[in-house]
Amino acid sequence: MRTVVAKFGGTSLADAAQFRKVRDIIQADPDRRFIVASAPGKRCPEDVKVTDLLLECYDKAAAGEAFEAELDAVGRRFGEIVEALGLDFPLADEIQALRAHLSGDPRRDYVLSRGEYLNSRLLAAYLGFTFVDPEWCVCFDETGRLDGPMTRRTLGAALRPLQNAVIAGFYGADMAGNVRTMTRGGSDVTGSLAAAAIHADLYENWTDVSGLLAADPHIVADPKTVKYVSYRELRTLSYMGASVLHTDAVLPVSDLDIPINIRNTDRPQDAGTTIVRKLPRGETKYPIVGVAGRKGMSVIQVEKVMVSDESGFTAIMLDILKNRQLPFEQCLTGIDTVTLVIRSDLLAPCKDELFGEIRDKLNPDYLGLTENLSMIAVIGERDTESSDANVQVLQALAREGVPINTANQGAGKLNLLVGVPEDRYEDAIRVIYATI
Ligand code: ASP
Repeated sequence: MRTVVAKFGGTSLADAAQFRKVRDIIQADPDRRFIVASAPGKRCPEDVKVTDLLLECYDKAAAGEAFEAELDAVGRRFGEIVEALGLDFPLADEIQALRAHLSGDPRRDYVLSRGEYLNSRLLAAYLGFTFVDPEWCVCFDETGRLDGPMTRRTLGAALRPLQNAVIAGFYGADMAGNVRTMTRGGSDVTGSLAAAAIHADLYENWTDVSGLLAADPHIVADPKTVKYVSYRELRTLSYMGASVLHTDAVLPVSDLDIPINIRNTDRPQDAGTTIVRKLPRGETKYPIVGVAGRKGMSVIQVEKVMVSDESGFTAIMLDILKNRQLPFEQCLTGIDTVTLVIRSDLLAPCKDELFGEIRDKLNPDYLGLTENLSMIAVIGERDTESSDANVQVLQALAREGVPINTANQGAGKLNLLVGVPEDRYEDAIRVIYATI
């Protein structure tokens, strides 16, 4: 028998109707033994997530203001689920306990964690599974940082003896027993930790989309879903703004080579996207997996004759940035030139000073700045035979008259990064998508 950890996000568990879909999905495959649940999310675009309602409760309570209206709203969200599913659950007692906590000296993380706690208890009752409270097995250190290795041991010990369980996502506790939450969207991380802790065969992440799209659907009409993507490619896509999974959710499972399958609770028939280290045998892949990008970039160009012979020139340049704690996105060095790509919002407050310092310390022949650029990542771990895919991308851009300000392809060929003017960003994405 295989073991699957299935995490269901907030929209997948937003109300009783969603709970029913989730139960059908779980019952359709007995391998889905360990379930990680989020707090109820939005039922429609205007709705408020339970975690946000809890945050409002906490903010009001901490400021000494009345929080009853918000707490009532939380109670109603869970009350509707309990009633519609006919669950025997002491909800009034739980809400009363939360009220008592809020009326004393409330702790933010504890209050925020109650959405996952209650939803997971409800789901466990509905499925007839054991409820596992991460307060006892997801470990944080005294500074509030997640302790991955310790969690793997403790969570593994908690889950292994169980046939089935529902684990609340998003929180755990430190050594002193204080509840600690992860950053927002953290239930993805709990799912990943649970999968790693029991060496699951698969980590399913059920959400409201059928996987990762090859391009932004606001720019490209009906882009295709990516069937397979590597952990590394996903990292680049996430960096460029594609947000299907919490960024910290990849490491625990990628270390153990456990695939992550992004699935849609509303369309369980869709295969979704599978994130793997290596493609399964027999599966071929396009050289380009997807295209994504970011606007708001600036490019600094420093030129000096014989730069390439002057040892330390680039190092001094990078030192200047480091001392100012100014991160850069890319650094391209050529014969006699150094080009730096920097986020415009970070550059703006220190631009004049930075240019002054570069002039003082490096005495360049030319110092230029190009603003209003966007960076586009063409993502795909290409092997050598298919590396001409990058050539096709650049040719297509040139054919459409999209100016290419910078082009960067590392030896690893993980991706090609192209800088184009912001006002041609959408055109460029469409042109590149058409080459996939
Ligand atoms: N409920 C939390 C949030 O809204 C965590 C999660 O859903 O993963 O961020």
